[in-house]
Amino acid sequence: MIENKKYIQFEELNKISEIIHLFTKRPFNFSKITSTEEKIKEEYQEIEDIFHYKFTTIKKPIQTHTNVVKVVNENNIGNDFQDVDGLITNMKGVALVTSLADCQGILLYDPKNKVIGNIHSGWKGTLNKIVGNAVSIMKQEFHCNPQDIEAFICPSILKCCFEVDKDVVEMFQENFDDVNEFIFEGEIKEGKQKYFIDTIGINKRYLQSLGLKKEHITSSDICTKCNASQYHSYRADHEKSGRNIALICIK
Ligand SMILES: [Zn+2]
Repeated sequence: MIENKKYIQFEELNKISEIIHLFTKRPFNFSKITSTEEKIKEEYQEIEDIFHYKFTTIKKPIQTHTNVVKVVNENNIGNDFQDVDGLITNMKGVALVTSLADCQGILLYDPKNKVIGNIHSGWKGTLNKIVGNAVSIMKQEFHCNPQDIEAFICPSILKCCFEVDKDVVEMFQENFDDVNEFIFEGEIKEGKQKYFIDTIGINKRYLQSLGLKKEHITSSDICTKCNASQYHSYRADHEKSGRNIALICIK
């Protein structure tokens, strides 16, 4: 990872001159609840200044932990994208944004067809295979070959901190084959067995099963909860939590 004071970047993606991308750190805060619209506007401005580039449009879907992915094109660019958790486009100047605090942001890039994606894959999105929907759309609508698609998993809650009850474990066991290698027994708390799930491992293996090459799947391996002084973390800050953003744009 390339570390900056207020954001990080993936080395491989940063090498590509036509792509702008970043994942923000504190004190950036893109939460409409714990920050203000005014402040958020200034922060987008600051990002434009960092890259010396003006986005034609900034598209952030209204995320509700669905597995719905939409293509942004000339006809729907004015839409709100309500109940959408992933966006894909080949339009230049359109910044695709997801807002995140522990959930995985997965950036997708096909260098052959010049298509990008930005996917919000929290545990529910991961469970419901949102990144698979994204890859399907890239194949169908842009004729992408999964072998060319590169995936970058942003800082998120890792298996060290993603503690769940048995009900969540059972949901993953139902939706994925052989998922037990990604599930670890934790402590017994108040008489209940706790578990830890490696949702990064699950998405990595899933992406490979969709045809992405192993060497095209990169994870930051930064845990937002362990590093809550640098990143907003819902599990660390609860309702007071701010939001990091993942952003990707074709210049
Ligand atoms: Zn952790």
